[in-house]
Amino acid sequence: MDRYCVFGNPIAHSKSPEIHAAYAAQTGQQLSYERRLAPVDGFAQAVREFIAEGGKGANVTLPFKLDAHKLADALTMRAQAAGAVNTLVFGPDGIIGDNTDGAGLVADIVRNAGVPIAGKRVLMLGAGGAARGAVLPILEERPAALVIANRTVATAEALVQQFAALAGEGVLSSSGFESLQGSFDIVINATSASLNAALPPIPAAVFHQGTLALDMMYGKEPTVFMHFAAEHGATVRDGLGMLIEQAAEAFYGWRGVRPDTSALLVQMRSKL
Ligand code: NDP
Repeated sequence: MDRYCVFGNPIAHSKSPEIHAAYAAQTGQQLSYERRLAPVDGFAQAVREFIAEGGKGANVTLPFKLDAHKLADALTMRAQAAGAVNTLVFGPDGIIGDNTDGAGLVADIVRNAGVPIAGKRVLMLGAGGAARGAVLPILEERPAALVIANRTVATAEALVQQFAALAGEGVLSSSGFESLQGSFDIVINATSASLNAALPPIPAAVFHQGTLALDMMYGKEPTVFMHFAAEHGATVRDGLGMLIEQAAEAFYGWRGVRPDTSALLVQMRSKL
């Protein structure tokens, strides 16, 4: 049976084994998928051991996404753009590093929420790893504007510089939180502020009636960002759909079969 795993530290909380077991059952794929706790300074060794045991691929979560990027023998374009890797494929050509987080985000917005990105004004809050991985997949959908706002504005500006050549004239720009101008059709919270129940200090006017506001964090209760957005007319969504979709994209990369995500999203929501 082909073997896969997720590396992280800590890892006990990971929902990936449950998600991939559901995808394997649904698509009739014979595989096993386990959690692997790697030492903080021992990621490469842990991967090599798994390959020696016959591992075919792996997911990578905190704090190893940059280590995985370094370890890979080759990178997909989206992993290069993201500067981080969340999916590894082990094959005859060595270790291939991919990043499915951004594709998962876009799939959740476009397919699950039914909101096209094409022609829309999009605001992304945050410029860390998750935001960086999302920029290329969002630009590929051809938004009218993508504004990256961050607490440290220089980091947002660096992202704009990195991706400027791939965006149309005037599409991509950076901002601080308080200085944001105008309203947006889609607002994505890619900051980790929600982990501490904090809210980036954005003007309420970034939302209009029907704005889609998505927080990458997920949990049983809506985040402070989701509460704030809903109070100002937005339709809100958390990051559970993104999580399930990035896993589907990894599963497709490994097995060549695209699982249906809709039933799993409902099932996992009920278990949060
Ligand atoms: P990083 O640590 O790489 O980046 C954190 C970002 O949040 C930075 O832009 C940082 O700004 C900003 N930030 C942190 N604290 C605050 C605050 N109090 N107020 C305003 N901005 C703040 O984290 P990641 O990019 O890896 O993760 C971001 C979020 O996305 C996390 O909540 C994570 O759980 C979630 N995530 C969800 C996924 C899913 O599948 N649903 C997948 C990946 C991530 P600065 O640059 O100024 O420090």
